[in-house]
Amino acid sequence: MTKTQVYKFGGASVKDALAVQNLAEILRNRLRNNFVIVVSAMGKTTNQLENILSLKLAEQDYSVNSTILKNFHLGICKTLFQDEHVIFPKIENYFILLHHELNKPITKDNYDEYYDRIIGFGELFSSRIVMEYLCQEKLLILWQDARELISTSSDFRFAKIDWGKTRRNCQSQLKPKLEHFPVLTQGFIGADSAGRPTTLGREGSDFTAAILAASLDAGSVTIWKDVPGVLNADPKIFSQTTLFPELDYQQAAQMTFYGASVIHPKTIKPLANGGIPLFVKSFLHPEQPGTKIHAQAKTEPVSSFILKQQQILVSLKVTDFTFIEEKHIHQVYEQLQSLKLRVNMLQTSAISISIVIDSQLFKLEQLLECLRQDFEVRYNEGLELLTVLHPDFGTIPELLVGYEILLEQSTRNTFQAVRRIKFPNEEKSKEGN
Ligand code: ASP
Ligand code: MG
Repeated sequence: MTKTQVYKFGGASVKDALAVQNLAEILRNRLRNNFVIVVSAMGKTTNQLENILSLKLAEQDYSVNSTILKNFHLGICKTLFQDEHVIFPKIENYFILLHHELNKPITKDNYDEYYDRIIGFGELFSSRIVMEYLCQEKLLILWQDARELISTSSDFRFAKIDWGKTRRNCQSQLKPKLEHFPVLTQGFIGADSAGRPTTLGREGSDFTAAILAASLDAGSVTIWKDVPGVLNADPKIFSQTTLFPELDYQQAAQMTFYGASVIHPKTIKPLANGGIPLFVKSFLHPEQPGTKIHAQAKTEPVSSFILKQQQILVSLKVTDFTFIEEKHIHQVYEQLQSLKLRVNMLQTSAISISIVIDSQLFKLEQLLECLRQDFEVRYNEGLELLTVLHPDFGTIPELLVGYEILLEQSTRNTFQAVRRIKFPNEEKSKEGN
């Protein structure tokens, strides 16, 4: 049997009826048995489910939001299917189930588990719609619940993979089906050993594709995107970009670590371990080669620009007239780990530690509560973290014009700055001083 191929389609590639039709066209001449298709939720569905959850938590009415979300999916179905198609009662059913879950009590303490029970519905809606549409287009494909394959820990919202169990599931349940049919499943979701739904972290569908590929000893993974491949900067933010025709695993992993959102950071490692090439291609121009990420890539270092938004800079000052020692850093890392927060940048001075983290609901308050006992704490929210890999230092000042720089760090191969836009009146008052 030829090796399995895994295709992953993200939210933008299924954002409306036209996009679903385009997906079917991409598959028309490519789909065969031994293909796994992984789909994300449609468009911004996951964000909308997060909004519903926030309203529920604040004990506010979410019925309007939920109706909008349902109509969005039904609207796509109306374009794709005849009125009497089975998809309509299926979507209605999913919304009944969603409301049933939302009627259960939510608190700050059970929030993460609750989140995982709700947020995966987006992937269920989308994978049903896409499967039904492909079958209607004579592209026969089986639907598979990813929660029966992806076994995880109970670390809700950031579940860790049980690789052994996941591999066994894939080999025993998925492989026999793949011998005869292609299979379509959901990204992002899994289940713990008690069968409770878990998720792999936002934008985790790429990771799902890599997990399935590694567990099936696949021949390749292709991620279909709205960009031509991996670029040296996000074209939504930077006007000048260049495409990498190929990258090695390490170069790609490094870019994702600093926040290049084209691939989820956890995707590369399982593929590198299995020597499985990863293609990043445009779903708008599927015939173009895109980027190939593999072990033998020969790419000279090119400056890459990565911007992470919604960052928080936390500064921790020791209060007992001692200096910063290893134990302080340990203490901070322990708290961050227990809150499942990752440090995007760290700087220490004689008496203080500065860390940059992503903004996440409740997490800052919890972190501050723990650290205030031992440190004098200050923080700034709403910041951007700019990382330049292989910088041309001569051009760095241009990138900082119009910004207030709160923290800066550079090595030979990396430049990082935490910045926020300077407002004109702010500048005036500074000039006046
Ligand atoms: N739908 C999920 C999210 O938006 C997973 C993914 O898109 O990869 O985070
Ligand atoms: Mg998404």
